[in-house]
Amino acid sequence: MTEQTYPKLLAPLKLPHTEIANRVLMGSMHTGLEDRASNYPKLAAFLGARARGGVGLIVTGGIAPTLRGELAPFASNLVGRWQVKRHRLVTDAVHDEGGKICMQILHAGRYAYHPFAVAPSKLKSPISPFTPSELSSGGVERQIKGFVRCARLAQDAGYDGVEIMGSEGYFINQFIAARTNKRTDEWGGDYANRCRLARQIVQRTRAAVGDDFIIIFRLSMLDLVEGGSSWDEVVKLAKWVEADGASIINTGIGWHEARIPTIATMVPRAGFTWVTARMKKEVSIPLVTTNRINTPEVAEKVLADGHADMVSMARPFLADADFVAKAKAGRSQDINTCIACNQACLDHTFKAKRATCLVNPFACHETELVQQPTKTPRNIAVVGAGPAGLACAVTAAERGHQVTLFDRANEIGGQFNMAKQIPGKEEFYETLRYYRSRLQQTGVNLELSTEVDAGSLVAGGFDGVVFATGVNPRQLTLPGIEHAKVLSYIDVLRGKAKVGERVAIIGAGGIGFDVAEFLLHERNDVQPPTIEQFAKQWGIDLDGDDRGGLTEAAPAKPARRLTLLQRKKSKPGGGLGKTTGWIHRLALRQGQVDMVSGAQYTKIDDAGLHIEVDGEPQLIEADHVIVCAGQLPARQLADDFAAIEGSDVETHLIGGVDVAAELDAKRAIRQGTLLALQL
Ligand code: FAD
Ligand code: NAP
Ligand code: SF4
Repeated sequence: MTEQTYPKLLAPLKLPHTEIANRVLMGSMHTGLEDRASNYPKLAAFLGARARGGVGLIVTGGIAPTLRGELAPFASNLVGRWQVKRHRLVTDAVHDEGGKICMQILHAGRYAYHPFAVAPSKLKSPISPFTPSELSSGGVERQIKGFVRCARLAQDAGYDGVEIMGSEGYFINQFIAARTNKRTDEWGGDYANRCRLARQIVQRTRAAVGDDFIIIFRLSMLDLVEGGSSWDEVVKLAKWVEADGASIINTGIGWHEARIPTIATMVPRAGFTWVTARMKKEVSIPLVTTNRINTPEVAEKVLADGHADMVSMARPFLADADFVAKAKAGRSQDINTCIACNQACLDHTFKAKRATCLVNPFACHETELVQQPTKTPRNIAVVGAGPAGLACAVTAAERGHQVTLFDRANEIGGQFNMAKQIPGKEEFYETLRYYRSRLQQTGVNLELSTEVDAGSLVAGGFDGVVFATGVNPRQLTLPGIEHAKVLSYIDVLRGKAKVGERVAIIGAGGIGFDVAEFLLHERNDVQPPTIEQFAKQWGIDLDGDDRGGLTEAAPAKPARRLTLLQRKKSKPGGGLGKTTGWIHRLALRQGQVDMVSGAQYTKIDDAGLHIEVDGEPQLIEADHVIVCAGQLPARQLADDFAAIEGSDVETHLIGGVDVAAELDAKRAIRQGTLLALQL
């Protein structure tokens, strides 16, 4: 294959004063490395690797233009000359690799997580505990000057441009929308007044930086909140910022407080590019589209369909620094695809932890996790081809060890083969495709359909054995647990059982929620929803008629009557990811799932599941009771092997067989990778 495989994606983009190598923009991501000067060498290594991997234009994580605009106390800002030097590390690293980079200027406004937040009006947001102060007109002027100063400093630091963050419900967006702007002075009132701040920032920044500097304006094209802009207003602002000096307009979809998923895995791929496409006929500067674009094929199609001039992908570059280089080389099957889980990126950011990636633990740790060839190649057995075993096997083989990977199943993937069947988790197929490709390339000796026992491991004469045998579901001892209507989640997800109309699910953890989602759908082999189906389920107006892009949600009729139970008194699904848990809870509510907390299970019989809540007996009538009550480590093999006397073979436990509690694929892959770096 040649470069022509993705002719649109890999074509250069000409701007009046410069050229961008291709149509790939690495979208802004707050990694947590931006916040401390001491972390800038790490940030430079992270971004430098993406430039080396061929990204046309990188946008940094958000940097505040004023102290009051910071996202959180002591978060990143660029307010003075003394800070320029650290940014030079970043711009040099990217330029040394032939890339281009813009710095995002982000003022949090009322989303700020500190008591000094400022906003157009004194209105608390639903996602920060702090009520902002209303800015005086002098205060507004100071914030604008802050933006302009910040852009000038960015220019001094060697950036190729700035992205002015005008979407996602941040400060500028708060001025634009009547929802958050109740002012009666020249910064509020009618639409032109509410847009004055955005326009002043663009105009004055352009005047300060001159013509040879990129200004991207991130425009909220779909607010997805009540009181958001109408489509006509969005178009008006796009034309204004074009006239005011923006070089590129990037698409923003949904405020952070919106209650519609916009980037999580259940959003169809390229599910919002239709919004940018609608803007194409309105302005003549390049438009960037975004959200849930995660493969070169999808990106190419979006461009070929004329939806935009450039494609923004952010998380896909956490998952694989070499995305563009691999696409260019016709090796898209080798790309480690972002599965849009948010587990190691956004969920980390919201916990003030450094972002990384579930499928790529090296991301944002480039200077700390360094893979080098082994000096002492050994013969290693890895038992279990789930995420932990796969990550360990390919990394160890890449370092030069001779690796044999066993699994009793006839396919790799372990529990991922159940996860991939959950509606909305189809991206898990991509991780398995990636590992299949890496197994082939690294020369791992793959032995599927092989039940390993301790004797065969001894006979194999391995220098080291890695146990990655995963978990067994927890067995309950409840009266009636032997009843024919009791099923394990494995029976259900492996398609071994036909499930009735009324179902009680014991356990409201990640798997309980997933099983509920699975059973709400009619067929087991559901395809990802179309954009129309997704829009209908969540109430998105595809026609541009309704303010904020919102319309009445009309979720599909649930296939079954489900009750999801847990013993804890807390909110069911409380342990799910910070940035996705609300979506899972909302989806089950749409499916009219009854959620019961504080349940004590007393027995199961022909009638169903008997429970007590606050001492009151209740019957959950059910055709089936499905147990999703967590797991225990599958230790039998490791224990049998340890019991063999005289074996001095080095052994390790990784993934679920090590610790089953709170196990997820993030830990499994990381643990497998880290062990392989040390073998
Ligand atoms: P496993 O995936 O359990 O793999 C163990 C492997 O060992 C299996 O393939 C098994 O066949 C093999 N094996 C065991 N004994 C032997 C033997 N004696 N000989 C040969 N082979 C053997 N995690 C997330 O992070 N995010 C999610 O969204 C998510 N969704 C999930 C949805 C579902 C429905 C399920 C079931 C799990 C989900 N998980 C999710 C959890 C995630 O899949 C697990 O944390 C992960 O698979 C654990 O990896 P592992 O390698 O430790 O074990
Ligand atoms: P889990 O999240 O730990 O949930 C186990 C559930 O079982 C809890 O609701 C628990 O609630 C209940 N339980 C525990 N012991 C029980 C007992 N003795 N009797 C009855 N109920 C009991 O585990 P999981 O759902 O099996 O998921 C396994 C792992 O996969 C999790 O760690 C999760 O992170 C991961 N996963 C993640 C996702 C995701 O979207 N991120 C999706 C699926 C799975 P009570 O104790 O209150 O009853
Ligand atoms: Fe994508 Fe998940 Fe990695 Fe985030 S953690 S970049 S969502 S795969």
